[in-house]
Amino acid sequence: MSAFTVDGLHETAYGAEVGGEADAGLLAGGGGGPAALRPLLGTVLAALERGAVERGGPLPAGGPREVSWRVREAAGAVLPEVGSGAEAALDALVGAVAAGAADPAEPLCAAHLHCPPLAVAAAADVAASALNPSLDSWDQAPAASTVEALVCRELARLVFPGTGGAEADTGSSCGPGAGAGTDAYAGADALVTTGGTEANQLGLLLARQAAGAAGGEVRVVCGANAHHSVHRSAWLLGLAPPLVVPTPRGVLEPAALRVALDGLEGAPALVVATAGTTDTGDLDPLAELVGVARGHGARVHVDAAYGGPLLFSERLRGRLAGLRWADSVSFDLHKLGWQPVAAGFFAVPDGAALRPLEHCADYLNADDDTEAGLPDLLGRSLRTTRRPDVLKVAVTLRALGRSGMARLVERTCAAAVELADLVACTEGFELYARPSLTTVVFRPVGGDDALVAGVRRRLLERGQAVLGRASLGGGLWWKVTLLNPLVAPSDLAALVKLVEEAAAEGTVVEGADA
Ligand SMILES: *Cc1c(COP(=O)(O)O)cnc(C)c1O
Repeated sequence: MSAFTVDGLHETAYGAEVGGEADAGLLAGGGGGPAALRPLLGTVLAALERGAVERGGPLPAGGPREVSWRVREAAGAVLPEVGSGAEAALDALVGAVAAGAADPAEPLCAAHLHCPPLAVAAAADVAASALNPSLDSWDQAPAASTVEALVCRELARLVFPGTGGAEADTGSSCGPGAGAGTDAYAGADALVTTGGTEANQLGLLLARQAAGAAGGEVRVVCGANAHHSVHRSAWLLGLAPPLVVPTPRGVLEPAALRVALDGLEGAPALVVATAGTTDTGDLDPLAELVGVARGHGARVHVDAAYGGPLLFSERLRGRLAGLRWADSVSFDLHKLGWQPVAAGFFAVPDGAALRPLEHCADYLNADDDTEAGLPDLLGRSLRTTRRPDVLKVAVTLRALGRSGMARLVERTCAAAVELADLVACTEGFELYARPSLTTVVFRPVGGDDALVAGVRRRLLERGQAVLGRASLGGGLWWKVTLLNPLVAPSDLAALVKLVEEAAAEGTVVEGADA
């Protein structure tokens, strides 16, 4: 098969004027895709290996200026007139990004909710990229849309057990015609999101629509410990700024919530609780908060972006008691779920709650197509073109099973307890609190904000460790967010020792310590 020619020349995309068969390696999909990909993936893997060796640690040494310079050197021209060819481009850029990465698979890269992805999930993501199904209409994603529906139902049932009855099962996920028709809404359901930010936005949006339908305007009420995206979502949705309840002990307390809701005098409210705060991993007392909210006729959205995966563990899921009574829940699998970004979910106990998101665009979900049985996907997101992020999740869940996910969650939580113990018995360090999830927060005894900030930047600059920071109770603390299930006791000891040594150097004038 020969491609069209331009001006009588037969050129490949890579610029060489060669025979038509050179185009055979151009596309990732189709029958020839795997053969085209195989050698390129070999190049990618070799560049990843080389980059890791070149970096030799959790992040590149030298700080932003030096790293940027090295990347510019390695990357070459961004848009050359004549291309370098696939192998050379992959080798140069993948190599540069790998050498300059903050790699969460390195045990001393532990600042953020930035997880080391599982190899099985990354492999599945290759297939997602090659096939490129887009989840905005069935005719772009016939099988992927079914995989998405199945995974969303299953994860929603994990959040809201007992809400997806047998009827919903037979009607929606088995046999021909599944997923279409009126029973598409029966039982708990979830939407795929880009993460907690988008999921929180959906939670606020649905609450706004529900209040609006009843002629009111919803007031968002959240703890001072809530994620910043709650505030941004309220702003984006044209709502009043959230009413912020102080959280002096790190969690939203039922008594304080009661006072706040009393003050609203019955106006429609959405309480946003957090299961796993970003700074400390604290878990709000969900059952009590739901009780207070219900007593005031308020809705509840739980931001479990971080803590949600505790549900996989029979031993740990009790920490989320009350989650199942929420009106909506955000949870991410690109944090404690070891997925490549993005893998977020927004779950509701009854799929009918998602109806306000229904939307019609004739080219994607014409009424007659929907009536004829083509599933309508447009109401399953505010986005249009949408990656099959669910494929890597489906593969991971199948590969590890619930118990395998539980083991990873439990192991990571145990590592945090171990690190906290280590910090607690290190002279000169003060532990903020026992970890509720996988975050360990500490500082020099009595606090020293300049030292905390300086040590963190010093370790970054030297490429030795990626440590986070948290402002709590008016002081600055180091934050270690453990998400690596393979972290060893020796890694934790090395981390504490590094911080001790860097702290012993004292506070150095910024920029003078390189
Ligand atoms: C990470 C996080 C978010 C934001 O989620 P993204 O996936 O980054 O969009 C929201 N809330 C909490 C509690 C989080 O930890």
